[in-house]
Amino acid sequence: MFDNLSVKLDRAFKTLKGQGSITEVNVASTIKEIRRALIDADVNYKVAKEVTDSIKEKALGRDVLIAVSPGQLLTKIVAEELTLLMGETNVPMDQTGNPNTILIAGLQGSGKTTFSGKLANMLKKQGRTVLLAACDVYRPAAIDQLKVLGEQIGVEVYTEPDEKNPVKIAKNAIKYAKEQGKKSLIIDTAGRLAVDEEMMQEISAIKKEINPSETLFVVDSMTGQDAVNTAAVFNERLDFDGVVLTKLDGDTRGGAALSIRKEVTKPIKFISTGEKMDAIDLFHPDRMAKRILGMGDVLSLVEKAQQNFDQEEARRINKKIKKNQFGFDDFLSQMEQIKKMGNIKDLLGMVPGVGKAIKDIDIDDDSLKPIEAIIKSMTPDERENPDLINGSRRQRIAKGSGTSVNQVNQLLKQFQQMRKMMKTMNKMGGAKALSNLMR
Ligand code: GDP
Repeated sequence: MFDNLSVKLDRAFKTLKGQGSITEVNVASTIKEIRRALIDADVNYKVAKEVTDSIKEKALGRDVLIAVSPGQLLTKIVAEELTLLMGETNVPMDQTGNPNTILIAGLQGSGKTTFSGKLANMLKKQGRTVLLAACDVYRPAAIDQLKVLGEQIGVEVYTEPDEKNPVKIAKNAIKYAKEQGKKSLIIDTAGRLAVDEEMMQEISAIKKEINPSETLFVVDSMTGQDAVNTAAVFNERLDFDGVVLTKLDGDTRGGAALSIRKEVTKPIKFISTGEKMDAIDLFHPDRMAKRILGMGDVLSLVEKAQQNFDQEEARRINKKIKKNQFGFDDFLSQMEQIKKMGNIKDLLGMVPGVGKAIKDIDIDDDSLKPIEAIIKSMTPDERENPDLINGSRRQRIAKGSGTSVNQVNQLLKQFQQMRKMMKTMNKMGGAKALSNLMR
């Protein structure tokens, strides 16, 4: 996410190295580089200038404390400014109304339908009953797409294939949601490839007629400054409540995330980081700023773990660890849980310092496939008690999983090390052992 911007900002901070305080003279070239990095990321020139002027003003004359370098101090100031630029805090979605009605608008291909599914999934996980409604009367494929997603996440989808008036469908969907006692209704609408009058009239008519609790505008972050312009046009007509930025997993330059709040004056509420149904996050400006600056995002990581880790399973595995009975089946189950948290590279990117280090390395869920294959080629006995796995068994497992004996050996070695560590931790008593290891 925003790799280029992160690298350029990092380079800018390095030019300040070794200075005892920040002065008009020594900060000038760094500020210029920060501004250039923002403009290259597709931030509007005026906004980039305002931000860097403000950074300069805050930085000037600040004595550098012994504990930090001038570069670190400036990084902190830039993080604060970027946070302010993106809106300071997360603005939650309005969840009132009976049903709580959420209207989804945006151009075709922006990721509306995918996001509708993700939001439904998120609300369902919060324990709400959800109904999705398909109001795209032009593309039957869009209705089918929503139905497929609905099935995948176990959420009902309301459709009226023969009705050509989207306003009617939306109204009927509300009626149906009430009858069925659904708490939330998400209405996916038709988009066009570019802004056009007919689309604007249609979506405005739906909004006026149904008066939703929340209108969200979905936009593809890869389109940079165009995303900001489209958002401005939609906002003028629709006066939406919040923005959803999609495709932040791609090599987007980040301009949309940085400028929409300032230029359109509406908050980004959600971000979408992949095609899978769990690739959705609330947008937190402070966390995003920290991520851009390579400061990591441990808070999001912890939240993701809390949402996606099955607590019951975690307790079960904890017990097994305590009894020194942790086996390959447990390992596999833990891997599944981690995969549920989303794209592995994005997850690692949230760990401070790691994001930068793995920027150029290709890591995806497929990297775990050989490990899964190896474990699945073991017999239940072998999974329970890996010490059984002798030379000939290793050969059989490698053959069965389509991997090499070397790969099997490596996994077994890592697993033994992990078990050893768990044993030590048990002896020393959980948390204390962990803090010792981290020292
Ligand atoms: P709609 O026309 O606005 O409803 O857009 P869709 O939901 O059909 O999405 C268009 C394409 O973008 C599809 O291929 C989606 O799988 C893909 N897509 C949607 N959101 C994301 C995202 O956050 N990341 C990535 N990489 N792809 C996405």
